[in-house]
Amino acid sequence: MSARPDRVFGREDYRDDTVLDCDVVVVGSGAGGGVIAAELAEAGLEVIVLEEGGYHPTSEFTPEASAMIRMMYRDGGAATTLGTPPVLFSEGRTVGGSTVINGGMSWRTPEKILERWRTDDAVDRITAPEMERYFARVERFISAGRQDPETKSQDNEILIRGADKKGWGWIHNIRNQAHCAGTNNCAFGCPTAAKRSVLVSYLPRALAFGARVYSDLRVDKLIRRGGQVVGVRGRVVREDNSLGARVEVRAPLTVVACGAMQTPALLMRSGIRSRSRRIGTDLSLHPNTKVQAIFDENVEGWKGVHQAYQVRQFQDEGFLFAAVNVPPGILAMTVPHFGRELMEMMRSYHRIVNAGLLLEDTTTGRIRTIGGRPFAFYELSDHDAERAVKATALLCELLFAAGAKKIASPFEGVPDLSSPDDVRKLTEHRIPKSAMELFTVHIMGTARMGGDPTRHVCDSYGKVYGTGGLYVSDASLFPSPIGVNPMETIMALSTRNAERILDTQSVWRAAA
Ligand SMILES: Cc1cc2nc3c(=O)[nH]c(=O)nc-3n(C[C@H](O)[C@H](O)[C@H](O)COP(=O)(O)OP(=O)(O)OC[C@H]3O[C@@H](n4cnc5c(N)ncnc54)[C@H](O)[C@@H]3O)c2cc1C
Ligand code: SF4
Repeated sequence: MSARPDRVFGREDYRDDTVLDCDVVVVGSGAGGGVIAAELAEAGLEVIVLEEGGYHPTSEFTPEASAMIRMMYRDGGAATTLGTPPVLFSEGRTVGGSTVINGGMSWRTPEKILERWRTDDAVDRITAPEMERYFARVERFISAGRQDPETKSQDNEILIRGADKKGWGWIHNIRNQAHCAGTNNCAFGCPTAAKRSVLVSYLPRALAFGARVYSDLRVDKLIRRGGQVVGVRGRVVREDNSLGARVEVRAPLTVVACGAMQTPALLMRSGIRSRSRRIGTDLSLHPNTKVQAIFDENVEGWKGVHQAYQVRQFQDEGFLFAAVNVPPGILAMTVPHFGRELMEMMRSYHRIVNAGLLLEDTTTGRIRTIGGRPFAFYELSDHDAERAVKATALLCELLFAAGAKKIASPFEGVPDLSSPDDVRKLTEHRIPKSAMELFTVHIMGTARMGGDPTRHVCDSYGKVYGTGGLYVSDASLFPSPIGVNPMETIMALSTRNAERILDTQSVWRAAA
């Protein structure tokens, strides 16, 4: 076990039941929780952050993917939605949340999305000029910028070679990193701390301003007094995941930032009601799929950061392409082959470009709880299924243009493609949804914000309608999917929510 900084506590520190007091208790320490905690602590409030996962500093990060996944992903990183097709998804469960294990893509919310939120959801003061200072502040704290050129891997260069041949637009990715070394371990914890996750950016800032972080602590319920939330109750998570001593934190203000799966579950477990009846609904996922393209040339995609570029030609149609090298064990688990064919494919690992696409979904699912645990129900619409096939076909065209010799499709029953002519195989017959393999790392929208308490769970700044002393500040707030990576949007919204909490201090303190 590594030494923890002052004011970061772990399971060894709470032997007996404990009661704590503060101004604001923040549940969850990821993109939403970490940012709001730092902002409020910097303004002088006494802040306590509660996090179910453990505290794992940079020195604990190794390239052993399966060990890191067990250490920092919820449910071993392999949860799935219920529906057709099932969508595999991952959430972080560690101090710093999913930012510790994410890819680091840092994008502002597209203007057309902000405009949609303003017009369709009556979100207050959300235009691009009004959001500018929040994005700029976040980008400064997480060092959002372009990669140093020498850290870009060959699979990425091949991707844009294909885009150039097709005449399609692409962009340099903006990532939250300072002189990233290109080790491509981002999903298992950055071993150099170049990736400025919440663990190494906002949390140290929160601690420096006096916040306390209690890790290994799972919040079960919000404490309610009438229409007011006055704190939370939780249990210590022991090494074997069983629950130990009880901890209660009393505060006039509670911020729930557990991510878009866990936040609605906590609200439901606590009996919070919304006039909108939309706690847990409006789940969107940005379904992803991927193909493996084999080239004659050496690709060695592990030598450099993944997703150095994004192909944005089809952003208006709601999809993006990127190259994402994954370790051989993970690739072998996900390619649509077995036996000799799989062995042949894995022998070519050094010549494979694993390329993915992100789809801005037009349908929504919902979270329900069973025994207090959240389950995601999501049915891909026919329209989105057709778009996924179309986008995959375009991605294959790009890879053949870049020189691919063979491509494994993500659709069961579709044989490997050997030439651009074969791409037609993808679109000739209707591919059943049950034959699609989808996954996601973007879960959004289950406690949506907006200007109408009959349609939205939270107001434009995350305050839960109809309940005093309670805010939400994470990906749950999104009124719709955003079509790009969500971390920076969550961070900017949290910065803005913190400002609102500070401006309304006299109100929420008086109500408690
Ligand atoms: C593998 C992966 C790669 C990704 N890549 C990118 C990327 O490149 N760019 C990008 O923009 N986005 C990326 N994302 C998504 C992005 O990281 C998330 O959207 C973002 O971190 C979500 O922020 P959040 O605050 O909603 O939740 P999180 O960051 O997930 O934080 C929630 C925290 O709350 C804790 N928690 C939950 N329930 C409780 C409870 N009851 N009690 C106490 N604590 C609790 C969790 O353990 C977790 O640590 C990726 C995600 C993953 C998993
Ligand atoms: S590629 Fe860069 S950001 Fe990712 S783990 Fe390596 S050094 Fe860290």
